[in-house]
Amino acid sequence: MSIADNLSRVQERIANAAIRSGRSPESVELVGVTKTVDIQRIELAVAAGLKILGENYVQEARDKIAQLGDRVSWHFVGRLQTNKAKHAVKLFDLIETVDSMKLAVELNRRAHSLGRVIPIFIQLNLADEVTKGGVKTADALALVRQISELAHLQIRGLMTMPPFFNQPERARPYFRQLRGLSQEIVAAGVAGVAMTEISMGMSGDFEVAVEEGATLVRVGTAIFGERP
Ligand SMILES: *Cc1c(COP(=O)(O)O)cnc(C)c1O
Repeated sequence: MSIADNLSRVQERIANAAIRSGRSPESVELVGVTKTVDIQRIELAVAAGLKILGENYVQEARDKIAQLGDRVSWHFVGRLQTNKAKHAVKLFDLIETVDSMKLAVELNRRAHSLGRVIPIFIQLNLADEVTKGGVKTADALALVRQISELAHLQIRGLMTMPPFFNQPERARPYFRQLRGLSQEIVAAGVAGVAMTEISMGMSGDFEVAVEEGATLVRVGTAIFGERP
């Protein structure tokens, strides 16, 4: 199947999952994750209607962003080192993976010097996996409160990457947990925090994520094929 076919199949599956769970298909945005995907193949997806791209590495994203520019919106979805904050803030429209005050302070400082306010998501590490980034559930609300004080960052929601399972159903409890946490943070009423977005679900499990309330799903393989 072509990239355009893959994309429309993914869009259709998202729409069906939304409808199944009583939501409107427009309430879910698709982020095409393009790590290792070359610019020609990305162009095909953009021509076929993909509007948001997710990149994991600042360096790799730089050339792609230079070529595609603002025809699409760019989300950073990888692990961000503090020393890359400066470039990330320049290049990306939204940073999905903020998980510490140290990183937030640096992003805020860099955003301030560019005169920008950067929308961010707080990344959760729900299963406390050592190999993954993200704040622990127990520390999430405190981090949201602290970051909400930073004038150049705007918290829009939460993001997670649950443990990998072959059966998508096994990810469901994690997706449900993230939505629950989002509701708790809303209930806590932190000033300046919107908490309207929930970024969860990848190629293997995005339909389950939509059923559990995802407002963004991040899909690579199902659109672009297996990565090398
Ligand atoms: C690579 C990646 C994805 C996409 O994974 P696929 O299984 O290829 O859909 C989504 N989110 C993050 C954070 C990723 O690093």
